[in-house]
Amino acid sequence: MDCIFCKIANKEIPAKIVYEDAQAVAFEDLNPQAPMHVLVIPKKHIPTILEVTGEDNALVGHLFQIAGRIATDNGIAQRGFRMVINCNSEAGQSVYHIHLHVIGGRAMHWPPG
Ligand code: AMP
Repeated sequence: MDCIFCKIANKEIPAKIVYEDAQAVAFEDLNPQAPMHVLVIPKKHIPTILEVTGEDNALVGHLFQIAGRIATDNGIAQRGFRMVINCNSEAGQSVYHIHLHVIGGRAMHWPPG
């Protein structure tokens, strides 16, 4: 499958991996939008959140837990951080393998751009 995030999960292309377990991988975004910008992905290929099913409930909860742990480990959990999931083109999704952006280390604005 020609998916860049599957290739990162399979170690076919390099990434700065900050966390890994049997179901998930987290790595630094190549084009960070804040001092901390980590992507948390499932190893299972799911193109968008629209393809998430009830079978994935535990997996999605697991990704949230990892995101919180990464924020805590980076010392930004109490200051605040943002988790973003883009879905399809108007939201700016560019990689069709679901991923949580975990972004922090600076003040965030709302509404997002
Ligand atoms: P999205 O636009 O929500 O699909 O986010 C895709 C993200 O993946 C962007 O923030 C990119 O900078 C990031 N990205 C794309 N290719 C790589 C890569 N090889 N390693 C790390 N991050 C990447």
